[in-house]
Amino acid sequence: MEKIRLGIIICDRYRTCAGGKCFKALHNREGAFARYLGKDVVLVGYTTCNGCPGGNMEYTPDEMVKNGAEVIHLATGMLVGYPPCTRINYFKKYLESKYSLQVVLGTHPIPEKYYIEHQKLGTWNTESWQEIIKPLVQNKKECLDYN
Ligand code: SF4
Repeated sequence: MEKIRLGIIICDRYRTCAGGKCFKALHNREGAFARYLGKDVVLVGYTTCNGCPGGNMEYTPDEMVKNGAEVIHLATGMLVGYPPCTRINYFKKYLESKYSLQVVLGTHPIPEKYYIEHQKLGTWNTESWQEIIKPLVQNKKECLDYN
């Protein structure tokens, strides 16, 4: 069976997070991890961006790549915080350019309470945001389950 090696980088505002939602979604192949249905997955790194402006993006992927990472997920927290990280697209571009790996925006499904609040705020009212959040909101039951 194909084995995918991946790393996760979270927003530092959630630095004390134990990763419960990300690990659950990875195990259940939910949210952004649905792409790995039927595939074997190994988590080879987990860290935070180290706070704005995200200094860890420059160095920590080295360790993940040494452990064989082919994909790095930028955690859902970066997309749902108030405000969402304004640097995510740059991080993606940089990591893909420097490490020649794939960067996926998001991990676990977007919890319904965040979805409702951001709908009110109009946070994701652009085509590019709609594209980003699409795999993370398509299953409403999962979104409720991640509240
Ligand atoms: S907003 Fe972005 S740069 Fe700032 S702590 Fe969160 S992920 Fe890092």
